[in-house]
Amino acid sequence: MRDLAERITRFRFLQAFVYWIEYLILTFVLTFPITLYEGYLREHKYGLATQTLGPWLGDQFKGLLIGFILGGIIVSVLFAIVRRLRRTWWIWGAFVTMLFLTFVVLISPVYIQPVFNKVTRLNDPKITQPILSMARANGISTKDVYQIDASRQSTRMSANVSGFGDTMRITLNDNLLRRGSPEEVQAVMGHEMGHYVLNHIYKDMMFSLIIVVCGFAYLRWGLDWSLARWGEKWRIRDIADPAILPLVVLLASIYFFVLTPISNTQTRTEEREADMYGLNASRQPDGFAQAAIHLGEYRKMKPGPIEEWIFFDHPSGYDRIYAAMRWKAENLKLADPGYH
Ligand SMILES: [Zn+2]
Repeated sequence: MRDLAERITRFRFLQAFVYWIEYLILTFVLTFPITLYEGYLREHKYGLATQTLGPWLGDQFKGLLIGFILGGIIVSVLFAIVRRLRRTWWIWGAFVTMLFLTFVVLISPVYIQPVFNKVTRLNDPKITQPILSMARANGISTKDVYQIDASRQSTRMSANVSGFGDTMRITLNDNLLRRGSPEEVQAVMGHEMGHYVLNHIYKDMMFSLIIVVCGFAYLRWGLDWSLARWGEKWRIRDIADPAILPLVVLLASIYFFVLTPISNTQTRTEEREADMYGLNASRQPDGFAQAAIHLGEYRKMKPGPIEEWIFFDHPSGYDRIYAAMRWKAENLKLADPGYH
């Protein structure tokens, strides 16, 4: 693949780009059976999927195309850095990767999400008014709530806060709007506002910074170590050779695999914070418990403690309902006008 890239273009910057395209096509084809099983067959088996094969394949190809462009840019830039800065590339690489990740977070609600789904402003005042009132009560200066047609792919209910700076926004998916009660929508919005007010997007970025810097330090060590042992056998010339990419992916996969419980615990901790914030903001413990039951369609309700620690990026349904009912028992009387 490296030799082919060199035959296609003389420019080293583009050689890395071409190598990336070849690599992505090859791995797309090789992993396609498991992708089809995971993303299509099993989803249908559980009654969660709403797409037929044609549109599903269309989404896969769109994803591949975005991978060509975004992946190609960062890979080519990183190789250019390695070629020029043989000793300090990992520091600059971490810096540039972080800038790139920030850029992707910034553009994703405006340029990436709309590739797969239609994102529209919610216009129904029956839904938006209570949400915007809650937003004002919590110091969120948004004027708009967005809706995404997630039912195009699945029956899953969800909502999220995405973007960064001016593109930061709250989005509800249409499954939540269609299937959730008003109390449930309020409870979920309270949770999302928790993410917003508690600055979780910025905290996630700080967490990513640590992960990325440690990752590049480990990569530098891992690549040197592997090349000293097997470089010649694998016909990888040196660290700036695009043919090193599969080794980079292997090392990165090991890194992120080992980090799974840590990154999940980081996310799960924020989710628990948002849950508490959401209960206080929405005062809808029943709605929140109902949402947890709905999410039980695709999340195991009561995992064991080790299972939760390793695999769960949200509190379990059991914990969420328990927390909501405890909140109700201990706090709801405060909102009751008959209480003295
Ligand atoms: Zn959340």
